[in-house]
Amino acid sequence: MNQELDFVNPEQGHIVIRNRPRCRHCGEPTELRHGKPWNENGNEGRPYYICLCVLQKAFSCFGDMRGVLMENPTCFCDRGMQISRHGIQNPEPGMPWSLRPIFYTCATGGCSFYEPMTDCDRKLVLNCGPISASSLSLRGF
Ligand SMILES: [Zn+2]
Ligand SMILES: [Zn+2]
Repeated sequence: MNQELDFVNPEQGHIVIRNRPRCRHCGEPTELRHGKPWNENGNEGRPYYICLCVLQKAFSCFGDMRGVLMENPTCFCDRGMQISRHGIQNPEPGMPWSLRPIFYTCATGGCSFYEPMTDCDRKLVLNCGPISASSLSLRGF
């Protein structure tokens, strides 16, 4: 069972993001965008921050509390909220679209923390449930 932060709604704005986070690459404030209605990763309408400085788009972080759970590992940020966010990655090359690795990343775009979720045998944990905003949110993503 996922342990939600019981004082927050996953859809609400992240509790420590007050201003647009600064880009980790160039230091400039990121831009707020929203997931397109046709997003296939369950992120339709979801707020996120991005900078256009490198590779045309340097993703910073999502702006909400989805996937930010007490049980998640802490990121490298030394201030703000250090509880990371888990998410679902695109499938590895050659893997079916339905099997996707689960990973943790910085929830507020402040650091480069990234860690795949592994089981007790250190094998990657794969998501195999449906991918839509409502189903993901119910499962803590
Ligand atoms: Zn930048
Ligand atoms: Zn961080």
